[in-house]
Amino acid sequence: MARPAKAGLNLGALRHNVSIARSLAPDTRLMAVVKANAYGHGSIAMAQTLEPLVDALAVACSEEALELRAAGVTCPILLMEGVFEAHELITAAQHGLWVTIDNDTQLRWLEETRLPAPLDCWLKIDTGMHRLGVLPEQFQDFHQRLLASGKLRAPPVLSTHFASADELDNPQTARQLALFESTCSGFEGLRSAANSPAVLAWPQSHYDWIRPGYMLWGNSPFAEPQPQAAGLQPVMTLSSAVISVRSVGVGERVGYGGSWQAQRPSRVATVTIGYGDGYPRTASSGTPVLIDGRRAPLVGRVSMDMITVDITDLPPVAIGAPAILWGEGLPVTEVACTTGTSGYELLTRMPSRTPRIITTT
Ligand SMILES: *Cc1c(COP(=O)(O)O)cnc(C)c1O
Repeated sequence: MARPAKAGLNLGALRHNVSIARSLAPDTRLMAVVKANAYGHGSIAMAQTLEPLVDALAVACSEEALELRAAGVTCPILLMEGVFEAHELITAAQHGLWVTIDNDTQLRWLEETRLPAPLDCWLKIDTGMHRLGVLPEQFQDFHQRLLASGKLRAPPVLSTHFASADELDNPQTARQLALFESTCSGFEGLRSAANSPAVLAWPQSHYDWIRPGYMLWGNSPFAEPQPQAAGLQPVMTLSSAVISVRSVGVGERVGYGGSWQAQRPSRVATVTIGYGDGYPRTASSGTPVLIDGRRAPLVGRVSMDMITVDITDLPPVAIGAPAILWGEGLPVTEVACTTGTSGYELLTRMPSRTPRIITTT
């Protein structure tokens, strides 16, 4: 006896998605982004699976990196926001963490902190995202000061980040690429720019290191179908089961607030999954759910532990029938669309309450 709500995690799909990234960018190094608990998948298990397949991992902060080190992960790990306090540079040098330098404060900390070992560093250039990074006109000065600091093991990797690579007809990506190239031109150092949409659709951005995250979890970052993304396999399948089935007469209302009203004699199935399990409360009536492998619309408000689904058009559904909320057969991106959010957020906000069940097929 166990509540059937769970997030299945298919490690075979993860390996397959890495191989797609490799085949799209065969001559570059691959850094797998596992920040935010590997986008909700569980960073330790995902990092341990990825480590033999990739050249490095990336996280947001040293806490995330040290969790992986404590679990025995030994490959390089980049801190993509750099450090938030000077003493973290010592931790980074001790544990082989690569640091991003993206502003003057971080550079001064590096210049002034005595380190137990040389550091590997990425110098981030703001080419238009305007979130992190040094401006193109500051770049030469930063580069010189980094080399002069005597703290680096090698020249910094030169990096930037795209604002709109998931929009294929947006001219911003080409503008960012041109500014990145003109800024780096003539400077030694490897280069890195590509997130998942750029790995999939902007081959001219691959350079020396690609940095995919979302695509490794098997989902397309594009709103429209895109051929390179077609072969991705979802790693996470959020599933549960039907625990109640009932008939609802015309005019009857279902769920909190009675927000959905039956327009015809209806059959409604209750599935034990809710916003307490990471299923979004903002999912509107009509959001697809797979019951016994068939699509049926969510109806009524999402509760903490349950949802209701209109199964009137389905063959008879029994208690215990399997329900898939997203994953195999139902892309998370599609669920995100009727929910006013992105697949990135739906995956990443998966709470610890939801058991993560690892499979390897
Ligand atoms: C999160 C992140 C990535 C990965 O982006 P995806 O779209 O998930 O592939 C790459 N680079 C940086 C700097 C990031 O913050």
